[in-house]
Amino acid sequence: MNTTRSQELFETAKKYFPGGVNSPVRAFRSVGGTPLFIRKGKGSRIWDADGNEFIDYCCSWGPLILGHANDGVVKAVQETVAEGSSFGAPTELENQLADLILSFNSYIEKIRFVSSGTEAVMSAIRLARGYTGRTKILKFEGCYHGHSDSLLVKAGSGLVTFGNTSSAGVPEAFVNETIVVPLNNTNAVREAFAQFGNEIAAVIIEPVPANNGLLLQEKSYLEFLRVITKEHGSLLIFDEVISGFRVCFCGAAGYYSIQPDIITYGKIIGGGLPVGAYGASREIMSRISPEGDVYQAGTLSGNPVAMSAGLAQLSACLAPGFYQEQEAKTQRLVNGIRAHIAAKGYTAKLWHIGSIFWIAFTNLEYIRTAEEIDPQSMTIFRKMYHALLERGIYLGPSGYEVGFVSAAHSNEDIDRTITAFAQALDEAFVTT
Ligand SMILES: *Cc1c(COP(=O)(O)O)cnc(C)c1O
Repeated sequence: MNTTRSQELFETAKKYFPGGVNSPVRAFRSVGGTPLFIRKGKGSRIWDADGNEFIDYCCSWGPLILGHANDGVVKAVQETVAEGSSFGAPTELENQLADLILSFNSYIEKIRFVSSGTEAVMSAIRLARGYTGRTKILKFEGCYHGHSDSLLVKAGSGLVTFGNTSSAGVPEAFVNETIVVPLNNTNAVREAFAQFGNEIAAVIIEPVPANNGLLLQEKSYLEFLRVITKEHGSLLIFDEVISGFRVCFCGAAGYYSIQPDIITYGKIIGGGLPVGAYGASREIMSRISPEGDVYQAGTLSGNPVAMSAGLAQLSACLAPGFYQEQEAKTQRLVNGIRAHIAAKGYTAKLWHIGSIFWIAFTNLEYIRTAEEIDPQSMTIFRKMYHALLERGIYLGPSGYEVGFVSAAHSNEDIDRTITAFAQALDEAFVTT
């Protein structure tokens, strides 16, 4: 595979951007080599700057559930932008997208649009603190919630900890407001509530943890969180920036039939343009300015071009059988790769939910916590990753990242991918 042009572009980019990128995982550091610079995408395919073609399972890290340059989304964006890109005043498109979402999602009554997942979560945390009058947040090791200060905190040693910052520049004072516990552990949460119960404003979880592998939780665990938060007057926040409109239209709340207090969205909601959102009951949302005393604003919030992209994409997601179809293709992919793993006796497992999948090099039946992921196994991922690229398959460049199947992936794409995975696994295991 010739990657000369990508290498040149990366060298130039390093002069402009820290590490040559505008978001760290793009730098390919965990798989090694040069990041591919992407020139265009259509449907399930992307093409890099050297003209190499790939079937893409990164899909911009999740937003592109219809695939690249979907005709309906492109048309909506073109028509809207031709009439002006932003006004900083209300537009009917905001009503239309809100109406589409709220009509088919009984888990939230009011919504506020922002411009990223990080902003949605940051605002939801402020809302929870404002609403409860409490300051502490309980989060889980292995969940990612964007890069706001309160949430860049990872577990320390011990079951219930105030943890350590996962970034320089996060003040100790923030760390002291963030309790970190392992996933899939009821005792840790009970202990945290026993110690800090009346100080905890909210428990925040990715109900489908998909930013550190796919750490599928049992429904009973999510139900337990619902009960214990209610008992202590804390809010339950589902961070559905990945799972929203992905595992079904109503996200994980709908998938598991659990009513959280606040839900955050991002990724799919904007049809590939920068949109985030948070929603809750009328009562909780009434605390947001200008109605209430929790301040939150945005120059480009509810941007008409982004709203029209979201509208086009989410309308398509409402087609009958849409989610079943993506799930069936993902099941086909996972089954195909599993069959090869079983035939060769490789130490590898795949899991999926809806159209999200993940491969891990383990013998464990399930991986539900971050610490169950073996960092050593990433050497196998790295080899498999490059072998897949050589065969025209593009995944997110890290073994801790999940893959996404879109509506644009055909069964033919899936079958080609199964063959490529089989060969890439053979290559990775032979040399390990
Ligand atoms: C991607 C993601 C975020 C952050 O969203 P950005 O748009 O990257 O700021 C937050 N929470 C979850 C669960 C995510 O997957």
